[in-house]
Amino acid sequence: MNAKICFIGAGNMAKSLIGGLIASGYDANNILATDPNQEQRDALSSQFAIQTYANNGEALMHADIIVLAVKPQILRQVCAEISDTVQAGSPLIISVAAGIRTDDINRWLGGELAIVRTMPNTPALIQTGAIGLYANSQVNSEQKSQAEHIMRATGLTLWVEQENQIDVVTALSGSGPAYYFLFMEAMEKAAQDMGLDAKSAHLLTMQTALGAAKMVMESHQDCAELRANVTSPNGTTEKAIQYFETHNLRDTVAGAMNAARNRAQELA
Ligand code: NAD
Repeated sequence: MNAKICFIGAGNMAKSLIGGLIASGYDANNILATDPNQEQRDALSSQFAIQTYANNGEALMHADIIVLAVKPQILRQVCAEISDTVQAGSPLIISVAAGIRTDDINRWLGGELAIVRTMPNTPALIQTGAIGLYANSQVNSEQKSQAEHIMRATGLTLWVEQENQIDVVTALSGSGPAYYFLFMEAMEKAAQDMGLDAKSAHLLTMQTALGAAKMVMESHQDCAELRANVTSPNGTTEKAIQYFETHNLRDTVAGAMNAARNRAQELA
């Protein structure tokens, strides 16, 4: 793929996408980024040797693909700024902005554009993201593979058929890293309360999370089977699992994810 990609907004998410693209062999000459903040621009051009611009319009004129990577609160204003240039060139638009619907982006940009909306998560910053993608009806199959190619630079990609499923992706992988952080925090605290020093509790918690995730990914068994395998009758794991089950862990998780999904719907 040798399309010219222009990132509008050169913050954390743009940096991880650009870093991932370059690490996967994408030609730096085909990547541009804009940002009003000079420090951000300098950081990107020195780290990745890509061309950066303070002015959106100038960069956009050459773009086949535009990645909208600004904060959601300013996306409307940015779309208004770039709509004339975008309408003239009809590039593929990829949005990473949380909670903003493709219809809104299309309206702000003047309509009839091919837009892919994505929901990345923070591990994308270390190329281990889980990214949901949704394409509006104007996106053709070549553009779909282009969008996938770009987003795959930061992790695993998965298409959803309906835009409202992006709200579920938000509640699952978008907010999900924080659920695991909370669980790990709680495990660390409990271990310390039972007498382990903080450093040991932290190291063992992290390694256990990593090991469990790797086992699920590398095994052909599902989570329930893996759990059954390590749960001997009347053993220590069984005692802990029984406690979780009788204290409604599953309902708590479902309730938390519903709350996140509902909030995503409200924000959109
Ligand atoms: P960020 O603040 O690091 O980056 C945004 C950049 O946009 C800043 O460098 C800012 O200077 C620049 N900017 C401001 N006004 C601009 C303008 N008019 N034109 C061009 N650039 C402008 O934010 P981020 O964390 O990279 O988030 C960017 C988007 O990614 C957000 O919409 C967010 O919802 C989405 N997102 C981020 C994450 C994440 O893990 N960071 C996860 C999911 C979604």
